[in-house]
Amino acid sequence: MRASQFFISTLKEAPADAEIISHKLMMRTGMIRRLGSGIYTYMPLGLRIIRKIEKIIREEMNRSGAVELLMPLVQPAELWQETGRWEKYGPELLRIKDRHGRDFIIQPTSEEVVTDIARSVINSYRQMPVNFYHIQTKFRDERRPRFGLMRGREFTMKDAYSFDRHVEGMEKSYQIMFDTYTRIFTRIGLHFRSVAADNGTIGGTGSHEFHVIAETGEDALVYCPTSDYAANMEAAESLPPSDVRPAPAEAMQKVLTPGKKSCEDVTAFLNMPLEKSVKVIAAIRLDAAEDAPDRFAVILLRGDHDLNEIKTQKIIGPFRFAAEDEIVQYTGTPSGYLGPVGLDKKPGIAVYADHTVTVMGDFICGANEVDHHLTGVNWDRDVPLPPVIMDFRNVVEGDLSPDGKGTLAILRGIEVGHVFQLGTHYSSDMNATFLDENGKSQFMQMGCYGIGVTRIMGAAIEQNNDERGIIWPLPIAPFDIVLCPMGYERSELVRKTTDDLLAGLLEAGIDAILDDRGERPGVMFADWELIGVPHRVVIGERGLKENMLEYQGRRDDAATTVPQAEIMDFIQ
Ligand code: ATP
Ligand code: MG
Ligand code: MG
Ligand code: MG
Repeated sequence: MRASQFFISTLKEAPADAEIISHKLMMRTGMIRRLGSGIYTYMPLGLRIIRKIEKIIREEMNRSGAVELLMPLVQPAELWQETGRWEKYGPELLRIKDRHGRDFIIQPTSEEVVTDIARSVINSYRQMPVNFYHIQTKFRDERRPRFGLMRGREFTMKDAYSFDRHVEGMEKSYQIMFDTYTRIFTRIGLHFRSVAADNGTIGGTGSHEFHVIAETGEDALVYCPTSDYAANMEAAESLPPSDVRPAPAEAMQKVLTPGKKSCEDVTAFLNMPLEKSVKVIAAIRLDAAEDAPDRFAVILLRGDHDLNEIKTQKIIGPFRFAAEDEIVQYTGTPSGYLGPVGLDKKPGIAVYADHTVTVMGDFICGANEVDHHLTGVNWDRDVPLPPVIMDFRNVVEGDLSPDGKGTLAILRGIEVGHVFQLGTHYSSDMNATFLDENGKSQFMQMGCYGIGVTRIMGAAIEQNNDERGIIWPLPIAPFDIVLCPMGYERSELVRKTTDDLLAGLLEAGIDAILDDRGERPGVMFADWELIGVPHRVVIGERGLKENMLEYQGRRDDAATTVPQAEIMDFIQ
């Protein structure tokens, strides 16, 4: 590649809206261009990096036995209505209409479409396991798109979906993906960590996230340096409490009978004398019923917090928070919010906008005191459950690890990958069945696995930069090496040597670029250091007279003189 035929356009200053280093450097190097909020063009230089990331992902996915297909960006609303996500996904889902007024969405993820494929093409247990993946554009109408490619609205994801005939099979598929992700992030050359994660709104049974370690990461990770324990903060805080004490007797006496309740009744029932600083004022846990393996939670927030904060509150026990659109505001108390989860499931708690609450099924109610969460206020049971007090403080550095093998440390990370065990969550909603070895119809056991392709680009820069610019890990660098001739136009010797060297490098499969733009050395060097190319070779007449070239690695402080004949070995 010759720089004169490529497109290089660097800037001295980053635009004012670029807050973090990766966003600044991507803008300054001209790797991306903003088209709208959270929407970017990948310019030629940026696209090279994305293609290299995709290549590694594709190679490792294929090696794992997964098969590539390509599902549409635009998907009919009907499939999303089948799983209820048309309503549940909330404002992050971009909904559009065609000329006939039919509803469609731009996919934020593809569980519905892939499950629809599976239910029509898989009939027998013999056709599984199978793992379909694609690398495709996603759209999520994020509340706060920011940090360039890190939290875009349009972005590229690799998403994979496994189908198995039983739980053991699904667990095996999950493990294969876990190992594949470990290989992918290792090959890309990132410092990363996998952590146990909460299943969030997707539901299901097991989940891990992969995080690139960086100060600027949005997520807090908790780990034990002396054992294998690692979790994201939400999962860490949902562990069984270490501080278990009986609830006070009066808490046990509170009873809420089934039926329609006014908001005042529920508030009185929860009865919480709270410090103003305590944000979550109540959490109700529904006991899992046989026909509803999911557990449900209701979170009540004080009026002075907006919905935005609900998801960032601590998750206690097996609770999960209501998706935003499941939260119904009511005005019976000073503008609180009540969030039911699983309105379509039984048992559940239904909250209606007419200020009434219907309570169905068994549940345990809880209430917060400062630093503690009380559970075990029993209702509608013959035998009271053992009441407990949960430790409701933040996990802090130095806490005992839940495995008892050491103390906890906290790191910050950027979520670049996420693996989920889904079980029959989608297959049961969409009736995706197969015939097992006994000819019996069963729901498929699923897993889903995402990697943020474009986010990796930002995360890699966050982790690898200095005052001169980006320092790409070699496997995803836009170019492996840049050749900087001194007097390419002027000196026949320099030109010939540089051209030969370029040809030799390309021949050897090394991704080399020759800077023949005729820029001054200072400009040339500054540009390539900003862009972050790992190797640089300077070809000058003076050195060539002694058969010498100048080499500098991107992390080196100064150049080294290298005999011309040795340069190939030197950079490999
Ligand atoms: P986050 O917690 O950052 O919002 P998520 O948990 O919603 O991410 P997943 O649904 O797990 O994301 O999607 C799989 C992967 O897609 C994530 O691990 C992340 O790398 C990437 N991703 C998600 N949202 C975005 C986004 N807005 N911009 C870029 N990449 C994203
Ligand atoms: Mg998200
Ligand atoms: Mg997440
Ligand atoms: Mg995730």
